[in-house]
Amino acid sequence: MPWQSPISPGVSWYEASVGDRPEYAPLDGSVETDVAIVGGGFTGLQAAYNLAKKGVRVTLIEAHRFGDGASGRNGGQLGTGQRSDAETLEAELGFERAKALFDLAENAKQHIHDFATDHSLDIDYVPGQLNVSHKASYEKEFRDHIEIAATRFGYNHLSYMDRAETEQRVGSKRFFFGMRDIGTGHIHPMKLLVGIARAAQAAGAGLHEKTPALKIERTGGKAVITTARGTIRADKALICCNAYIGNLEPKTASHVMPIRSFIGATVPLNKFPSIIPGGESIADTRFVVRYFRKTRDGRLLFGGREAYSENLDDMAPPIRRQIEEVYPELKGIELTHAWGGSVGITMPRKPYVREVMPGITTIGGYSGHGVMLSNYCGKLYAEEVTGGAKELDQLKALKIPAFPGGPRFRTPLLFLAMTWYALRDKL
Ligand SMILES: Cc1cc2nc3c(=O)[nH]c(=O)nc-3n(C[C@H](O)[C@H](O)[C@H](O)COP(=O)(O)OP(=O)(O)OC[C@H]3O[C@@H](n4cnc5c(N)ncnc54)[C@H](O)[C@@H]3O)c2cc1C
Repeated sequence: MPWQSPISPGVSWYEASVGDRPEYAPLDGSVETDVAIVGGGFTGLQAAYNLAKKGVRVTLIEAHRFGDGASGRNGGQLGTGQRSDAETLEAELGFERAKALFDLAENAKQHIHDFATDHSLDIDYVPGQLNVSHKASYEKEFRDHIEIAATRFGYNHLSYMDRAETEQRVGSKRFFFGMRDIGTGHIHPMKLLVGIARAAQAAGAGLHEKTPALKIERTGGKAVITTARGTIRADKALICCNAYIGNLEPKTASHVMPIRSFIGATVPLNKFPSIIPGGESIADTRFVVRYFRKTRDGRLLFGGREAYSENLDDMAPPIRRQIEEVYPELKGIELTHAWGGSVGITMPRKPYVREVMPGITTIGGYSGHGVMLSNYCGKLYAEEVTGGAKELDQLKALKIPAFPGGPRFRTPLLFLAMTWYALRDKL
């Protein structure tokens, strides 16, 4: 029986295709350690691996199984830069900081490749990303972006696609034009996640699944984490529960908001060679972005429906409707898997990295752009602890206001705002 995450709906195609997914025993009793980590997604596991590699004693606890949160269930698209365009960041923060943030994201991209190479991991990497416009009016913005990326940020991998090229590469007439990025691509996230956990364990990290943290506090000069069967006492702690933080730590919870996003996997599309013949991943310009790509075995993985409340209807029909809009020839196509996960967003759609109590850091809120950033932030945290590079300071310095409305009212407020944007996508 495939494992069903208790915190994210549906069984993902990743779970079904990852192969061996080792289990890690729950933490039984109390431990003393140098660094305690709460949350076993990319952020937490990379931090654990990189700390253990340097000889730091580290204990990581995960409430369910590694990858049950966003890291094992996402679209697998690496993207380029931060979630906000480099030129938007430049207008807001000045060139130097915008460039540093762009470079950080490039380092994050390289880090994924280096990790996979160093550990001989096959993560199904396929190069190429297409950003396609669902409106004719965005042409100047696309052209400007390509030029600015090259001339100001030194990124020469983007090219403009006219309507004919877009149609050919996407295999759909739905989009007006687009941009091709040959400097990035997509991966099988669960294969990467399983590989990081193995590497972390081999490096000496204490890894424990099915061990929820019930409380995190600073007491007696230590970070103390309470579990059902004991405590972890550590010099430092890292919270990386991202969108799944719940009530565990109030500062994280008020700055990082969960949004459900859903993905469906079709049967292999061998009879439809015109659909994404180059194998790129694709994202469109809608506010409620549609993101899709083919898997190594030829399925279409299509994501795009978000939900802002817990009132979730059946996942598959809305995904199928969106697939049919882009690819009418796939009308009635069978979805073998449909699943969802929670994306952690912040108000300005930038990562939230803060010391929330002395020696206790929280990292998350990558706002749908976390596949490469979460991996790298875990590594940067480890470097910070061991006295290395200071790149994480770039993210700590970002202004991230709390969501208005408090825990009770922010979801209805966001629901209203997002419904408006979703409506605008249709105009
Ligand atoms: C459907 C979907 C599609 C996405 N697509 C993309 C994409 O294509 N490209 C991209 O860049 N990003 C994408 N993202 C975002 C990306 O997956 C995340 O930014 C990234 O995986 C975050 O990793 P993380 O380690 O910070 O958090 P997570 O992977 O969410 O891990 C958090 C973990 O904390 C655990 N936890 C929570 N509370 C406790 C507790 N009390 N005790 C112990 N453990 C706890 C949870 O169980 C969970 O496993 C997508 C996300 C989703 C959901």
